[in-house]
Amino acid sequence: MKHVKYGKCVKCGRTYPAAPDLTACACGGILDIVYDYEYIKTRLTKETLAARPERSMWRYRELLPIEDATEPTPLRVGWSPLYDEPRLAEALGLKRLWVKDDGQNPTASLKDRASAMAVAKAREAGAGTIACSSTGNAASSLAGNAAAAGLATYIFVPSRAPKGKVAQLMTFGATVISVQGSYEETFELSKQAIDRWGWYNRNAAINPYLSEGKKTVALEIMEQLDWQVPDYIAISVGDGCTIAGLWKGLKDLYAIGFIDRLPRLISAQAEGCCPLNRAIETGEDWRPMEENTLADSIAVGVPRNADKALMAIRESRGLVVNVSDEEIMAAQKLLGRTCGVFGEPAGVTGTAGVKKLCERGVIGGNDTVVSVVTGNGLKDVENAIKACGEPISIPSDMDRLLAAFAERRIAVE
Ligand SMILES: *Cc1c(COP(=O)(O)O)cnc(C)c1O
Ligand SMILES: [Zn+2]
Repeated sequence: MKHVKYGKCVKCGRTYPAAPDLTACACGGILDIVYDYEYIKTRLTKETLAARPERSMWRYRELLPIEDATEPTPLRVGWSPLYDEPRLAEALGLKRLWVKDDGQNPTASLKDRASAMAVAKAREAGAGTIACSSTGNAASSLAGNAAAAGLATYIFVPSRAPKGKVAQLMTFGATVISVQGSYEETFELSKQAIDRWGWYNRNAAINPYLSEGKKTVALEIMEQLDWQVPDYIAISVGDGCTIAGLWKGLKDLYAIGFIDRLPRLISAQAEGCCPLNRAIETGEDWRPMEENTLADSIAVGVPRNADKALMAIRESRGLVVNVSDEEIMAAQKLLGRTCGVFGEPAGVTGTAGVKKLCERGVIGGNDTVVSVVTGNGLKDVENAIKACGEPISIPSDMDRLLAAFAERRIAVE
């Protein structure tokens, strides 16, 4: 890969050749993939990009750590819509707000971007089996993208994973181990199994290529905004790979001169599980927390990518905001009603954070914001019904319908 220099440890600075099965540094630090931006500049311009028909994350291959000969993975990952949302902007008191609906990926979450990258790298490595542990979406996205590419998967999920995600896993033919314990304990077992059997490792943060896949969300946002940089980009945070990837993509674009400034990040976590935001707020090292929120995808008590995530938030002069489960449910309803976008609880946590920051007057007025919805609400139907209520339930009888409307003071037009 001429455009990739090496993987560099974010802790000790040691570098490693960019082999397809690269994992973490010997010191335990996470690696960052370092590019030759001068070379990339000679290969990629805004014009060549605009002329490109490919409508998936692979349209940015000059900025991705894959060999020239590596084929795009079969499922269409990325190029999700970025909606201008004037009514929601007005409701929140923002000048302009866009919603990036990443629930529209093939397995319905942003994790498809990382999993497609894992599949591409596993193929380069000649691996036939991939494994990971996950709160749910990394798992279902890996299972789906691997199935499409003809690779086998071993998946470890905590037993609390919502049924929709487990149903995806079973449908995609993964060997699924539901671990009776926390995500932390699930991760530990997967690690031991991967060491024992030598499967290709798609564990969050350990594999440095994953956030390179996730960064395509930033590349798309900026191309969809015609390279006009918003003031803020808000996203929910669990392990920290997503926000780190988002920041990496923005910095890539800055480095090759596609954008002339960088937005500030908004890191949204759940009040019941916010180890990274707490570290920013207190200025202390992060410490583990309980996994106490209905937003299962970000119920991460021991974040795997703390170093990169904290660096991203700090470098961007980012804001942190913690929201309660009630605020998450309110955002789910608000997004549904004003935008027609259905997000899972962790998917709407970024928007819940934006709403809270607007209400507190921290942002607003002249600010422009992109809020990324990271996962689709159909993955967790139980919580959606909890947030938005039950329908009117009656027999097929007009009188009962009239009575039901009258009872609820629904004035039919
Ligand atoms: C994984 C996930 C996140 C958070 O990503 P991290 O890399 O764990 O910080 C947010 N939302 C959804 C829907 C997810 O699946
Ligand atoms: Zn190191």
